[in-house]
Amino acid sequence: MTVELEQADAGRDFIRDIVQADLDAKKYPQIVTRFPPEPNGYLHIGHAKSIALNFGIAQEFGGRCHLRFDDTNPAKEEQEYIDAIKRDVHWLGFDWGDNLFHASDYFEQLYQWAESLIRSGLAYVDDQSQEEIRLARGTLTEPGKNSPFRDRSVEENLDLFRRMKAGEFPNGARVLRAKIDMAAGNINLRDPVLYRIIHAEHPRTGKAWSIYPSYDYAHGQSDAIEGITHSICTLEFEDHRPLYEWLLDKLPVPSKPRQYEFARLNLTYTLLSKRVLTELVRGGHVNGWDDPRMPTIAGLKRRGVPPAAIREFIKRIGVAKANSVVDVGMLEFCIREILNKTSVRRMAVLRPLKVVIENYPEGQTEQLEAINHPDDPAAGTRPITFSRELYIECDDFMENPPKKFFRLSPGNEVRLRYAYFITCREVVKNAAGEVIELRCTYDPATKGGNAPDGRKVKATMHWLSAATSVPAEIRVYNPLFLKPAPDAANFAADINPDSLEVLRDARVEPAVIASSPGEVMQFERQGYFTRDADSTTEHPVFNRTIGLRDTFAKEVGGKG
Ligand code: ATP
Ligand code: MG
Repeated sequence: MTVELEQADAGRDFIRDIVQADLDAKKYPQIVTRFPPEPNGYLHIGHAKSIALNFGIAQEFGGRCHLRFDDTNPAKEEQEYIDAIKRDVHWLGFDWGDNLFHASDYFEQLYQWAESLIRSGLAYVDDQSQEEIRLARGTLTEPGKNSPFRDRSVEENLDLFRRMKAGEFPNGARVLRAKIDMAAGNINLRDPVLYRIIHAEHPRTGKAWSIYPSYDYAHGQSDAIEGITHSICTLEFEDHRPLYEWLLDKLPVPSKPRQYEFARLNLTYTLLSKRVLTELVRGGHVNGWDDPRMPTIAGLKRRGVPPAAIREFIKRIGVAKANSVVDVGMLEFCIREILNKTSVRRMAVLRPLKVVIENYPEGQTEQLEAINHPDDPAAGTRPITFSRELYIECDDFMENPPKKFFRLSPGNEVRLRYAYFITCREVVKNAAGEVIELRCTYDPATKGGNAPDGRKVKATMHWLSAATSVPAEIRVYNPLFLKPAPDAANFAADINPDSLEVLRDARVEPAVIASSPGEVMQFERQGYFTRDADSTTEHPVFNRTIGLRDTFAKEVGGKG
């Protein structure tokens, strides 16, 4: 079954309105957008919003979208991240075609333009330390102070800048700054840094460069070189726009892109800062970038979240110009909505309790028919084995049940799905007094799950035969953070100590073992599950992608 929830005509928003108006005014022959990740970590669901927006606009308006690595800081960037980003963008369902670029492709051009700024008297080499520069920058209410190096001659600046490039000076010894206005109301215009010295091996340019352009300098010029028409970024860059425009205005760039800002995605119970995500991985709080508890694309994928659910979620939240926090329940809703339609039904017992059917002959088995999807007859059926020894879910039995407990208890009759009515006759306990086995009887006349005399039972339970079910480890994930708004500055204190529950004694039906890689199944009454990357033939492992209903409030002790 395929699901087509998302449409080409994704809802309108202020950016799409701008694009449409520009096309109507024939401003550009073609719309060109870009997604510009810095390869210093894995992509997360916030990036998915930017990816869907940039690639989506290109698709909808017959334009193109570039994937451009903003690889200007070799101290933090790695090939592993570059590979992961490409993989994840493709997995989300977007394609850059031939339009793969790197800011590092433009290092030579950017350098030449920096020299041209120096020659025009619009940039200078500053020998102050990073700290001195910071202190002299002023505040929102006070102007900054001019650097003592601000009035160097063009010749001296050129000479020093070339020697910075040649690797003569150590990290941090000097920077190149734009000469704009230390009293500007917008702090970004107070002589921003254009180049810094970094002696590090770059994943693509190796040791060719000892100086690297700042984000502000590299970004707009890269946009201009690529002919980007709409440079869409998140709101924190709004105050950088005057600098973006100043540079485009002062340099002989081949095109004049325009920057537009939208609100970044924030999610409850989730932190999306790459710094935090990196620390979660490095600090061993999770098992890598693709840990299923991570809000990374790789984590969501490993957990079993289909890309269509992420696209649907992004579509529903829309694009706005004011920051807000989206309830993570909305993402979960989209995941369930897609998986309910696409997942086959299977049976698994997460915490098994043995049941012996005393009046069922020893050694006998029979094949019963189970349906694969209740809403999709074409999904067909599969055989499941009934036998004298079964497993049911521990939680489905109570020795002393409260009034409204309708599942199995001494003397009570329930239906085993697709099989028979059974009644509990005796409870077997170990020396510690724990229930280890139930002795039950079945009614042979109820085959298929209905009584010919019309009597009813109030519960239908899933089960597995002891002999044919297969042992498996099941990993159940709970929110990684306990609070709706975890504190990014002190995130460790907000980590949920029970975010991962490992169920080592679970059992699954053979059809679960036969599932294909990446397939998500509904384990009846339990939720959606998929095989984990750690799974082997000897030791099958399944992840719970998500439970069947919103248990969020219960699991983390209440929202808000
Ligand atoms: P950092 O926190 O280190 O700045 P970043 O998350 O901004 O990292 P980038 O690699 O610079 O990471 O992001 C690539 C693009 O994704 C940028 O255009 C950025 O605006 C966008 N982006 C990042 N986070 C979000 C988010 N939460 N919601 C929407 N877009 C985002
Ligand atoms: Mg960024």
